[in-house]
Amino acid sequence: MFWDQAAETRERAALAALQLGRLRETVGRCAECVPFYRQQLAETGVGAETLRTLDDVRRLPFTTSADLRANYPDGLLAIDRRRVSRLHTSSGTTGKPKALFFSKADIDTAADLMARCLVMTGARPGDVLQNMMTYGLFTGALMMHYGAEKVGLMVIPAGPGNSERQLLLMQDFRSTLIHATPSYALYFAGFLAKRGIDPHRDLALRKAYVGAEPHTEETRRKIEAALGIDVYNSYGLSEMNGPGVAFECEAKAGMHLWEDNFLLEIIDPATGKPLPDGERGELVLTTLAREAMPLLRYRTRDITAVIPEPCRCGRTHRRLERIAGRSDDMLIIRGVNVYPQQIERVLMACPGVGHNYLITLEGLDEMIVQVELAEGGFDGQVEHLVRLQSQLTERLRAEILVKPKVELVPPGALPFSEGKAKRVVDRRVL
Ligand code: ADP
Ligand code: ZN
Repeated sequence: MFWDQAAETRERAALAALQLGRLRETVGRCAECVPFYRQQLAETGVGAETLRTLDDVRRLPFTTSADLRANYPDGLLAIDRRRVSRLHTSSGTTGKPKALFFSKADIDTAADLMARCLVMTGARPGDVLQNMMTYGLFTGALMMHYGAEKVGLMVIPAGPGNSERQLLLMQDFRSTLIHATPSYALYFAGFLAKRGIDPHRDLALRKAYVGAEPHTEETRRKIEAALGIDVYNSYGLSEMNGPGVAFECEAKAGMHLWEDNFLLEIIDPATGKPLPDGERGELVLTTLAREAMPLLRYRTRDITAVIPEPCRCGRTHRRLERIAGRSDDMLIIRGVNVYPQQIERVLMACPGVGHNYLITLEGLDEMIVQVELAEGGFDGQVEHLVRLQSQLTERLRAEILVKPKVELVPPGALPFSEGKAKRVVDRRVL
């Protein structure tokens, strides 16, 4: 089933022609309406008329999150303030946030792309979506909300946290779909186990959409097993509408990125050079149909690769591999590059391990991995704990080539955030 079959299955050649037309239009508007881009484009000597093929996008300058911050609050706005219908911001851990503006048409387009995603996974009118993402300045909940309403789903704007209330809503209104961060989905699964709820018997859940933070295939499987449902990977970022940028179809093998709305490139993050399909690098996106705030070659810092093979669902928009991490998440420990996701993969694949973990770096280069045990996972036998601990230490060492200190802690012992999970605390004295 498709939301917009013609758009979703457009032949590659027609898609490329549409992209080129939209790219020229976007660059033209950037030059005309955004002083920041006007100056940059003038410096590089590129204009709408000099873009002959899609590869010419590489002649355009990159836009970085630092550019967004430097132009805060409205230096990148391309339309009259009176035509803006919504503001979102992106958290921004340091200093100023990034401000993102949307016109009425932009909101409508974002909702439409979200609707494609939902229908692609089999969501239908009659489904009840419990939206467990944060409502507010963060795009995560609202963009999903608008898309779901467009499809004709019933939406429960639950927001995150308060698991008791989540459960009540879920039982009383027979929620069939949930939208959550993977960390909250896991946490909630643990909560259900503690309450003795069997999702299969007691709930009507069918599917979960998880995104907004990096997570591994092992985490997906763990959520699927704990809740007895299908879990779909949802990728997005506030700079590009929020959720609905790339999403898994029923094949659950990579996320279709809506290429009629975003022009995608994969580059080597160190050199900025383009990488071919199949090779892993940083995702760079150019908006192709945005009014209020077009962005050229935005460096997402997310590490992924394009899956070049066509998908069996018939959609022609290329798929992205699961995000391997953010380029700035990479840890260097005793000279070795380590992504937190490598650690998560090992932990989540191990029976007896619960849903939460925390990586702490201390001293000169000591890594401590604290990990919660599964609910009811401790049978009182200390030797079982010792075995699990040495198993995890050994598997982690094999995966990341650094030997961490593993600490097993009771379920619920680690700090838990309702928003995005914080996985790493760096207290090194370097
Ligand atoms: P912030 O940059 O403040 O975290 P956003 O809410 O815009 O604000 O977060 C977008 C980022 O979240 C993406 O750039 C990516 O790093 C991460 N993200 C979103 N969805 C996924 C996903 N499905 N898998 C991995 N990472 C994701
Ligand atoms: Zn597909």
